[in-house]
Amino acid sequence: MGERVIIIGGGFAGLAAGVALSERGHRVTVLERRSFLGGRAYSFVDQATGDIVDNGQHLFMACYENTINFLRKINRLDRLKFQSRPRVDFIDTTAAITAFDCPPLPAPLHALTGLMKMRGLTFGDKLRAFRVGRALGKKSNGWSGATVSAWLTSLGQSENIKTRFWYPMAIATLNENPEIASAAMLKRVLDIAFQGSSTNTSIGISRVGLSDLYTDGAREFIEDRGGEIRTDSEAASLLLEQKQGLRRITGVELKNGEILEGDYVISAAPPQAFLRLLPAELRDEFAPLTSLKSSPIVSINLWFDRPVTDLEFAGLIGTNIQWLFNKNAICTGANQANQIAIVISAAHDYVDCTKEELVDMALDELRELIPEARNAKLLRSRIVKEREATLSHTIESDSIRPLAQTSISNLVLAGDWTRTGLPATIESAVLSGNIAADIVSSRLI
Ligand SMILES: Cc1cc2nc3c(=O)[nH]c(=O)nc-3n(C[C@H](O)[C@H](O)[C@H](O)COP(=O)(O)OP(=O)(O)OC[C@H]3O[C@@H](n4cnc5c(N)ncnc54)[C@H](O)[C@@H]3O)c2cc1C
Repeated sequence: MGERVIIIGGGFAGLAAGVALSERGHRVTVLERRSFLGGRAYSFVDQATGDIVDNGQHLFMACYENTINFLRKINRLDRLKFQSRPRVDFIDTTAAITAFDCPPLPAPLHALTGLMKMRGLTFGDKLRAFRVGRALGKKSNGWSGATVSAWLTSLGQSENIKTRFWYPMAIATLNENPEIASAAMLKRVLDIAFQGSSTNTSIGISRVGLSDLYTDGAREFIEDRGGEIRTDSEAASLLLEQKQGLRRITGVELKNGEILEGDYVISAAPPQAFLRLLPAELRDEFAPLTSLKSSPIVSINLWFDRPVTDLEFAGLIGTNIQWLFNKNAICTGANQANQIAIVISAAHDYVDCTKEELVDMALDELRELIPEARNAKLLRSRIVKEREATLSHTIESDSIRPLAQTSISNLVLAGDWTRTGLPATIESAVLSGNIAADIVSSRLI
């Protein structure tokens, strides 16, 4: 098989497409703009401590079928550890800990029982939560065109249960504020999470830095099958040929002027990067994509002189900081010296704060939530701001997200932001890579 497939982007989507196509014997070249693979899910070594820091803590779910298969294929699944059953601990500003702990019952009973056992919710809150459960099974589409907050209000959900349960879940999965996030997308998440197998919502965490989880494995897999991974290789433009009314992409011009010819091109770059690749003739056609916006995530990594919690991770209620991850407990074999990673999703209000402002806020709030943190001395801090962490899941973005196949038969789109039916997550990225690979290989056989 001599056809060459050029894949632009070395994140989860591009690597998943590369792995799937190499496995089927196609000649793959992955182009990555940066000097390393991983896109928006990577890790690096903090020089001062020698610890591994993720660009933001990532959680996986047991329902991430495509991701799990991808990691299994590249022989890295053992680096991810899943809970035996879904459980999330929450800490509130009274320092009380309550768990959303789902017993081994058939779905959705497991989730409803988990909710029933949660402290901090009134009996009325819990009873009314059943309305959300019932709405999931209904065909009527109260969620369509509604925001998360409007939809939950229409189902009688109180501010208390929104703040303590629904919003933390919505913000974590959609990375957008409930006042503008799409209810249809949250419903999709809830459908998958609570209507399938009772372990669908079990959380998986990488025991190694994110880059070590998949980038080398994917590289080896592709290179072992004759493919090529080129880092420091920024695609500058797609080369378009128009002959007798037929349009095709003949290849890609790199930023350094090099031209790569290809039979197929998969763009697995984020939307704005993809738009920059377009020749003038195609810009109008893809103009709607310019209205896709992104939403930021801020991570505040804190190193203390002593352990501050035994929990692996916890949702934080009533504070600006939303999640804490105890890296000592999470990373096996690593010397994560009392490192706590704090995450703020949908961080529109925080992404422009200074390092000092973020660290002071995180420290104050952490000390309010966790008594053990009050006497702990902060040794070091490091902020990672991902300004374009994910697609902003507004009501409008649902209908703008494009399908993989474009109007040009040999140009295919991938990336978490494409219309996979899932929120922009790792699973969406890997699924999009698989869809793109299926489209290409079905034509090349
Ligand atoms: C802080 C943070 C926390 C997150 N938490 C979670 C989580 O808990 N769970 C979850 O499932 N998801 C999470 N996500 C989302 C997840 O990281 C993304 O959905 C996923 O990594 C997207 O992969 P992708 O391949 O679609 O895109 P990307 O990772 O963005 O990959 C695109 C690649 O294309 C490259 N590129 C761009 N332009 C060019 C060009 N012209 N030429 C060559 N290369 C180019 C980029 O450098 C990049 O490497 C999080 C994201 C962030 C930022």
